[in-house]
Amino acid sequence: MTRIASHRGGTLEFGDSTPSGFAATADMPLEEVEFDLHPTADGAIIVHHDATLDRTTDRVGAIAEFSGSEVRKAVISYSRNEHPLLLEELCATFAASRVQFRCEIKPDAEGRPYRHFVPRVIEVLRRHDRLEQTHFSSFLIEILDEIGAVSDRPRLWLVSPPVLNQLGRKAVVELARNHSIPEIGVHIDQADAALMAAVKDAGLDFGCWAAHSARQIEKALDLAVKVFTTDRPSLAIAIRDRYRSAENAS
Ligand code: MG
Repeated sequence: MTRIASHRGGTLEFGDSTPSGFAATADMPLEEVEFDLHPTADGAIIVHHDATLDRTTDRVGAIAEFSGSEVRKAVISYSRNEHPLLLEELCATFAASRVQFRCEIKPDAEGRPYRHFVPRVIEVLRRHDRLEQTHFSSFLIEILDEIGAVSDRPRLWLVSPPVLNQLGRKAVVELARNHSIPEIGVHIDQADAALMAAVKDAGLDFGCWAAHSARQIEKALDLAVKVFTTDRPSLAIAIRDRYRSAENAS
């Protein structure tokens, strides 16, 4: 069964990385919640997509340059007057949920990995009994290597369209294998059966991200990828239910 990951807590249904979106996701019949992490200047870990507050809140500036309490004064756009969560709070939201974490470790506003960030994330997840329910992801091999050095939890390489176009399919698969990365995720619009077969023939898992429209969600289900992320988790659940009913009827 293809797994559904509620991307940033279902951005198109609840706003980008909002507490209410994560709370709603915790009760949904899906398998994963996707979220992104950044550190603050005083050691807090914030659940937010961008490295800065500019695009998605009423404030401006890089998260890494503020204290945790300053970041938490920001109001998330298109939210119910909500503020960015701490990782600890996200763990509490999912404490009684069967939904697993798909944790993306982001780089800073210049695209560089944050120093000494990965071990702190792992420590918080472990302390809140969520580490064993966590899959890690990153667009940067360097960050995936860092995660692999301190944890044996599953890691997934998010391959961006320019990287896939530049390196080509064969080199992407080889790179993943050379770094012992067991899973590749590509943009849904770049996914096809031949690419999935090439990845799986190399012994790697294959998934997709950014399946937000009904057409994209159906494509992921038709391919039977391992997992896909979506900004519209309720829509994805409804479509997957329809697929299941059709399967059961046949
Ligand atoms: Mg992400």
